[in-house]
Amino acid sequence: MTANFDFIIVGAGTAGCTLARRLIDTQQVTVALIEAGKKDTNPFIHMPIGVAALSSITGINWNYNTTPQPTLNERQLFWPRGKVMGGSSSINAMVYIRGQYSDYDEWEAMGAKGWSADEVLPLFKLSEDNTRGTNPFHGVGGPIGVSDLRYHDPSSDAFVAAAQHVQLPQVDDFNTHERLGLGIYQVFHRDGQRCSTAKGFIGPVLSHPNLTVLTHTHVRKVLIEGGEAKGVECEINGEILTYTANREVILSGGAINSPQLLMLSGIGDKSHLAEHMIECVADIPAVGQHMQDHLDVVVQVKAKSACGYAVMPRLLPKYISHGMQYLTQKKGLLTSNAAEAGGFAASRYGSAEKPDLQFHFIPGLIVDHGRQLAFDYGFSLHVCHLYPRSTGSIRLASKSPQDAPNIDPNYLSDEADLYALVDGVRLARQIFTAPEFTHYGLSPWYPIASSLDEELSDEAIIDFIRERAETVYHPVGTCRMGSVDDPNTVVDPDCRVKYVTRLRVVDASVMPKIMGGNTNAPTIMIAEKIAANIIAEL
Ligand SMILES: Cc1cc2nc3c(=O)[nH]c(=O)nc-3n(C[C@H](O)[C@H](O)[C@H](O)COP(=O)(O)OP(=O)(O)OC[C@H]3O[C@@H](n4cnc5c(N)ncnc54)[C@H](O)[C@@H]3O)c2cc1C
Repeated sequence: MTANFDFIIVGAGTAGCTLARRLIDTQQVTVALIEAGKKDTNPFIHMPIGVAALSSITGINWNYNTTPQPTLNERQLFWPRGKVMGGSSSINAMVYIRGQYSDYDEWEAMGAKGWSADEVLPLFKLSEDNTRGTNPFHGVGGPIGVSDLRYHDPSSDAFVAAAQHVQLPQVDDFNTHERLGLGIYQVFHRDGQRCSTAKGFIGPVLSHPNLTVLTHTHVRKVLIEGGEAKGVECEINGEILTYTANREVILSGGAINSPQLLMLSGIGDKSHLAEHMIECVADIPAVGQHMQDHLDVVVQVKAKSACGYAVMPRLLPKYISHGMQYLTQKKGLLTSNAAEAGGFAASRYGSAEKPDLQFHFIPGLIVDHGRQLAFDYGFSLHVCHLYPRSTGSIRLASKSPQDAPNIDPNYLSDEADLYALVDGVRLARQIFTAPEFTHYGLSPWYPIASSLDEELSDEAIIDFIRERAETVYHPVGTCRMGSVDDPNTVVDPDCRVKYVTRLRVVDASVMPKIMGGNTNAPTIMIAEKIAANIIAEL
């Protein structure tokens, strides 16, 4: 069976939904939005506190694991990625952060012409419907709801007030030019619920006659003839089908699956493709290379007094009352995204102008990405390093589209990345010693110590990092964008794949360099920019 569309977009995730909506709004083209996962009907996706359970729900997740990491005691780290309408925007923690504006000037300097901070700011504003209204940094009326939390735990206020204790300012808006300090995050919410890109961009146009959304449809490869992308080969319920594109095929499968799809289609390092007996269509060694991620470690404390979002029977009446509030008014604790507060600080390698550490504060004890329960009162303070020097790769494990690729982030291969996290752990422990936390009666859980005041050696902190560090879910860079002449790039600044016509990659994989913050808003921005470029040429 074959069907024909103007544009085929592979992956209904953060970027794919954004692109599809902008193309549909022109009323000039037909679009197939193809998603391997299912519809986003699971209520835990939409109820913000459900985020704590989402990594355990296997049916909406690719459930990847990295290769053993030598610097992390040979551990294989769990990498959840959304396999559902909305992609990872349907399972993420909803924190709305754009990065440091100067990150985009660096992209431009690396060869991504047109992506400077001044050029991308209007694109961030375009998709945004911010409940705080418009100002030079924010927009209203866009498809994506951005809101202040309707509810946050008092301990998140304590965390923000603790800023003074560690000589940091309090920050009201992390998306302006200045963001050093601690504050409560704005979130991807509309009316107290998650606003994924599926909900914000696709929901309102789902029945548009020009849009065909195909779920449960796994794209196996791009069909390329004479150096031109013609369509895609897919699998639905064991049946192989092809869809053809009059204009373009756009890969928006994310930083793991887009490079995998390119390689399965014969685009990549020729010798690596030969290892898997895949005929090379375009020899681009950079495919799957230059992967960067934010490595994260969680400093956790136990509390003597009842507090936060603990899994404890005595809190049941509170949860029932909040459940009623959520059902009737979309208010209360169930509208929390768990990672309520956070902020930015500088390690020995950062500065006030360019902080290189980010915090996510959770008023509870979350263990193993929420896949295990901890029956105790306490708090978790994630700290991640924003500008890692280590780079990793995605490589094929086999030529079967159903097999996960080898994911090797190559964490901490540069020692500076390790020592930046050492500074982060020290600062996180110090935050918990602030007077604002005294009444909780805190004691250390991880890293293990006799008290929060106990000075830990570098070696003890390094052991803790090697044993406990995890991803904070921001892989990027595996289809790097930049100048066509640069051997380290896969796509040009218009996200067109080099040496193949009518084929683009548009998602987090094209970032030339990881930006300093969470990656969802920047990925929407990338899709907004390419959509505008495509539309201008229609
Ligand atoms: C647990 C978690 C928490 C996070 N928290 C935050 C946060 O709080 N704030 C933030 O800004 N960022 C966060 N992120 C990161 C952010 O969500 C991602 O960077 C962003 O969603 C990436 O968008 P994307 O379009 O590149 O990929 P995705 O959104 O992952 O979309 C890729 C889509 O392609 C589909 N697909 C892949 N391969 C195929 C195929 N072969 N055939 C068909 N379909 C395919 C996938 O199923 C998926 O739907 C988090 C991510 C995770 C996983």
